[in-house]
Amino acid sequence: MSLYVIGNWKMNFNRREASLFLPNLISCLDGEDINNVNISISPPIIYLPEILAKYIQLKSNDKIDFLNSFFLTAQNISHYSKGAFTGQISAGMLSSYCDNVSRMSVLIGHSESRLYLHESDDMIKSKISNCLNECLYPVVCCGETKDNRKRGDYLEVVRKQLEPIIKNIPNGKLKFISFAYEPIWAIGTGENASPEQIDEIHNYIRTLLCSYFPIDLAFSVPLLYGGSCSKNNARDILLIKNVNGLLVGGASLDVEHFSKIIKIANELS
Ligand code: PEP
Repeated sequence: MSLYVIGNWKMNFNRREASLFLPNLISCLDGEDINNVNISISPPIIYLPEILAKYIQLKSNDKIDFLNSFFLTAQNISHYSKGAFTGQISAGMLSSYCDNVSRMSVLIGHSESRLYLHESDDMIKSKISNCLNECLYPVVCCGETKDNRKRGDYLEVVRKQLEPIIKNIPNGKLKFISFAYEPIWAIGTGENASPEQIDEIHNYIRTLLCSYFPIDLAFSVPLLYGGSCSKNNARDILLIKNVNGLLVGGASLDVEHFSKIIKIANELS
């Protein structure tokens, strides 16, 4: 499968910086044959319509290959579908922006949302089913704390986060799902997980998928790694067997840095 690179901007950039990102990315990748990698950015939701409009405009003018597999990723949605939930947006609202883009995905259960917005496992389950009902592509995040690592119960933590979700996905909906293993201790710390640690968890998630789905379906699910990815470690991480892409936070804010990660992924796809 072609590798994935998703840039999570979190709550960064002003409106001008956000609107210049895609044209700048195109300049950085200009002259490169980038057609093997699925690229996405995940801006704050307020910028998404403007970025989508810019994307449509650039795509019609520029005929740039990688724009065909470019997609957008929202940072979150509500676990409700409508009603008196001030400050939230629903899956249905987001899906009304899907028409002109190859897919619209959504980060679900990012550790920052679990922590700061107090998202529970049940809320995360509802968000996933709201996504699937609206043909959005959930990128389901999981990962353990440093304490879990020290105690050695990290596999159990990941299993508890993912198994209740995996066993409820109908076969026909699996194509919408991807998972991102993001150890909490590696997010924004500059300390990425080692290839051995990533290999162990990704292999574990793949095995979990294989116990609920036919093997070809289980192997078609993209498993991304996130946590202090950079141009310096992207190659080593992407060479790990069950790693199908990267979820990049801090390094995605620098368009040149991000484009280097994309070039590495393109080369390895
Ligand atoms: C993230 O928040 O999804 C992330 C991976 O951040 P960073 O790359 O900055 O560690």
